[in-house]
Amino acid sequence: MSDCIFCKIAAGEIPSSIVYEDDLVVAFDDLSPQMPVHTLIVPREHHANIGDNIPDDLMGHLFNTVKKIAEIKGIDKSGYRVIVNTGDDAQQTVHHVHVHVLGGAPMNSGSP
Ligand code: ADP
Repeated sequence: MSDCIFCKIAAGEIPSSIVYEDDLVVAFDDLSPQMPVHTLIVPREHHANIGDNIPDDLMGHLFNTVKKIAEIKGIDKSGYRVIVNTGDDAQQTVHHVHVHVLGGAPMNSGSP
């Protein structure tokens, strides 16, 4: 999608702090981190949200990338939170499906 900010990041058209990338997905640090580690994983292919008919192999790859990001960021042993905001009630603001990986400090009920 031409006006999608995450499509532009995935295409390298606007700058981001890339953590990991391969043929199918790109992971980059969130611009407004809610935790010491806050990385977003997006598919290169545009899908609005998790309900947008994402092929099984792409969905599997997207979520298997979470483990890689946790290892790269050094939070695989301490633990981390995985969030996928979907739709208006969840306050999804960027309508290109993305997985938030959050960690780096203990979380409580006030954490994201
Ligand atoms: P919310 O904004 O309520 O967290 P989303 O789940 O849609 O809803 O999250 C979008 C995320 O994208 C936000 O955490 C925001 O900080 C992040 N973001 C927006 N623009 C950029 C950008 N250019 N680079 C990195 N992260 C971005």
